[in-house]
Amino acid sequence: MNASGNVDHYGRTIDYLRISITDRCNLRCRYCMPEDISLISMKEILTYEEIIKIAEAAAKFGIRHLKVTGGEPLARKGAVGLVRNLKQVPGIETVTLTTNGTLLKPVLPSLKSAGIDAINISLDTLQRERFREITKFDRLPEVLEAIEASCSLGIRTKINTAVMPDINTNEVPALAALSERLPLSVRFIEMMPIGYGKQCKSYDNSLLLKTLKDRYPDLHPIPEKQGYGPAVYYGSAALLGNIGFISAVHGKFCGSCNRLRLTAAGELKYCLCYEDGIDLRRLLRSGGNIENAFSYAMQQKPKAHCFETPEQISEQKEMSRIGG
Ligand code: SAM
Ligand code: SF4
Repeated sequence: MNASGNVDHYGRTIDYLRISITDRCNLRCRYCMPEDISLISMKEILTYEEIIKIAEAAAKFGIRHLKVTGGEPLARKGAVGLVRNLKQVPGIETVTLTTNGTLLKPVLPSLKSAGIDAINISLDTLQRERFREITKFDRLPEVLEAIEASCSLGIRTKINTAVMPDINTNEVPALAALSERLPLSVRFIEMMPIGYGKQCKSYDNSLLLKTLKDRYPDLHPIPEKQGYGPAVYYGSAALLGNIGFISAVHGKFCGSCNRLRLTAAGELKYCLCYEDGIDLRRLLRSGGNIENAFSYAMQQKPKAHCFETPEQISEQKEMSRIGG
C-alpha cells in the first residue's frame, strides 16, 4: 500500500490503530466504568488470533503504529504475548500500551523483551485516598512502583492524567513535577463527554499551561515529534522529561487525526464521537475481506468531532469498551 492509499478525503494520513483487547478492568474509574457495569460475553470479544489477522490487514492498508488498550489490557491473560506477536506483523513499526499500571511492574521485563516501544500509564492523583475515591481501589503504590520501574528499564514512559475540575486540578503541579525527577512525559487530558465522562466537566488545558508557566517560567513548546498522537509537548531546563497536553475539547485537533479504533468486540470505529463503525468480528468470522474494510472505514472518517454540541454525540458505548 503506497502512502496515498491511506490518505482520507480531508488529506489526513491514517497510520495509527488503537486496539482495545478487553472491556474488563480491575479498577472502576468514576469517569469510565461504574461499579455495576455490564460486560460483553467472552465469545463476543476478539480472540488474539483475530486481532493479529486484523493487524496484518491494517498494516497492508498503511497502519504503522498500534496502541494496545482496554479496559485494562494487562487484565487479559496473554497480553504480553500479543504485544510480541503484533511486533512481528510486517509493516508495523511501533506497538505501545496504555495501562492503569496496577498489574504492570511484574511484566515489565517481558514487555521490554517483547519489544514494546512505549508505555502510557494512567495516573490522576498522587494521593492514596483520592486514588481510592477516583478508582474505587487502593492501588496507588503499585502504580507508582511501576512508573519508577518502567523508567529504570529505559522504556519510554508517559503518564496520562485525566483532569477533573474540583477533583485533581490542584495536583497538576505535583504531577508535572514527576518529570523533574524522571525522564518521562506527563500529559494532561481534557475530559471528553463520552460514556461516563459526560458526567464530568472538562477543564481547559490552556489554563493548566498558565499555572505551569508560573512554576517553570522557561516552559516552551518542543517542536520535535514525541509520539504519534495529538499531544502538544512543552519542555523546561528544570525537567528531565516534558509536559504534554491533549486538548481534545478546547483545542480541537481533528484536522490532524491519524487514527481508527478497534473495540474489544471487533468494531472498527471511525471517530470517538460517533457510533458508526464496521463489524470486523462478523466480517472476519464469515470470511470477508478486512483489508477493504480499512479502506472503507478511512473514507467514512468524519471531518471533526462534535464535543461542543453534546446532543450530536451519537456514541453511547463506555470508554472502557472503546479503549480511550
Ligand atoms: N485501563 C487503561 C488505562 O486506564 O490507561 C487503558 C484504557 S483507558 C479507557 C485509556 C485512557 O482513557 C485512560 O488514560 C483514561 O484516563 C482515559 N479516559 C477514560 N475516559 C475518558 C474520558 N471520558 N475523557 C478523557 N479520557 C478518558
Ligand atoms: Fe479501567 Fe482505564 Fe477505565 Fe480506569 S480508565 S476504569 S483503569 S479502563
